[in-house]
Amino acid sequence: MHTRAILGIAPTAIRGEPENIMRYDIRHFHRPVCAFPGCGNEYDGDEAEWWTDPYWALDQAWEDDWLVLDGRHDEPVCICPEHLLYDGDGRLVRYDPEGVVPETAALAGFYEGHVGEPLPDPDCERGALDALLHSELVTADHPFLLPICEYPHCGAVFADEPFGAMWYPDEDAAETAVHDSRRWAMIKGDDGECHAFCPLHVLHDGDGRPVPVGRTVLPPALAERCTDPRPPAVRPSCADDVLDVLRGE
Ligand SMILES: [Zn+2]
Ligand SMILES: [Zn+2]
Repeated sequence: MHTRAILGIAPTAIRGEPENIMRYDIRHFHRPVCAFPGCGNEYDGDEAEWWTDPYWALDQAWEDDWLVLDGRHDEPVCICPEHLLYDGDGRLVRYDPEGVVPETAALAGFYEGHVGEPLPDPDCERGALDALLHSELVTADHPFLLPICEYPHCGAVFADEPFGAMWYPDEDAAETAVHDSRRWAMIKGDDGECHAFCPLHVLHDGDGRPVPVGRTVLPPALAERCTDPRPPAVRPSCADDVLDVLRGE
């Protein structure tokens, strides 16, 4: 499979120079970062979640009791739970204009119209105000990669579910996931790399299940490359194109 460590990829390679065609999709986690001075905590939600849209991630952080308010720069500013105020039962103390308000008047101004938002700990009010006055939405971007089907003109992305929770930090993890899925075919090419082919090019039985290599007869040129009997076999009608990819043609 044409994947490699994400770090160190030149920007030109990402755009796809003709001599360096990418075979995986690079995406990014956008995690909100706590804007409290000196904190830098990232909201990571469920560890397996990733967000392509930072505002969506922000909504999640807000639902998980991060403080999210619009700052002076008209962008949301978020503050992690470490700087918030809790009552004796460990519950967040929330803004109520009828009586539960920040001690710092300038901070209270940012709460107007936001009944129920968590309040900062009094010791943290100055830092929270500072963040609201000076910060914009801060996100941390974490690149990860998703394997792409290498069949000519296909480009299907592995684990490309609407809100897919699968992501791979490096090529080994990606390759293992494709291999273990038993839905995609993965075959070693002349270049010594494994190449991935999505279920569209995989042979299925009458019940729609992938047929493993060991339960079918492959064209000889493919059979000699598919020594493991367990992964799915490619469809006979796709064999020639798959072989072209494996040969680098
Ligand atoms: Zn924080
Ligand atoms: Zn495909």
